[in-house]
Amino acid sequence: MIVLKTRKDLEAMAKSGLIVAKALEAAEEAVKPGMTTLELNNIVEKVIIGEGAKPSFKGYRGFPACCCISPNSVVVHGIPSKDIVLTEGDIVSIDVGAFFGGFHGDAARTLAVGKISDEAKRLIDTTRECFFEGMKMAVDGNRVGDIGSAVQAHAEKMGYSVVRELVGHGVGRELHESPDIPNFGIAGKGVRLTKGMVIAIEPMINMGTKDVSFSKKDGWTVTTKDGKLSAHYENTVAITENGPKILTLR
Ligand code: MG
Repeated sequence: MIVLKTRKDLEAMAKSGLIVAKALEAAEEAVKPGMTTLELNNIVEKVIIGEGAKPSFKGYRGFPACCCISPNSVVVHGIPSKDIVLTEGDIVSIDVGAFFGGFHGDAARTLAVGKISDEAKRLIDTTRECFFEGMKMAVDGNRVGDIGSAVQAHAEKMGYSVVRELVGHGVGRELHESPDIPNFGIAGKGVRLTKGMVIAIEPMINMGTKDVSFSKKDGWTVTTKDGKLSAHYENTVAITENGPKILTLR
């Protein structure tokens, strides 16, 4: 079931979105070579709790930390650890959710650790561009497939591949609501988008194969099958009568 949001709901969601934006900004400012992914997690958690919010991911289906931190070939759902040290040249994606005033906000960025290669930078930039290509399609009357096909077209034009197993989603009182928002698809197909819907658009773009592996060891970590880099960029987006509105970006 798709839960449409009222104007009042959207005002509340803008608040949880803002907290997510602040937490991601803090991570971006803090990230540096030598830092562990647990330290980065704790910086984010401090911001969320400091704002009086709750980290959406902590305890979600048993997830053990505040945010998902996924370096290099980890696509998403990396578990922060004191044993994972970020080093110069790494890329690291950080996915953050905050629950405040009854609603969740959900967003992700991929950050550079120190100086990174031009190749890695191009992947990060393209993944962000893929989000904006998809977001432009998030308008009343369009279909979910319009978003996915726009994301896929841009990624593939740049020589990259789109992960199929993980997709975006509705956001609201629940972290994951209907409908699914795939990063691939056929324009004009799928669920119709209407104003009042709030969705997380979150391209996961791989430098090599689109295929991924799911860790049997920790039950969470998703990595590229070929070990090549992957990047992630996500915002919570409201579909309004005036077009798409990003709630998790200042
Ligand atoms: Mg999400």
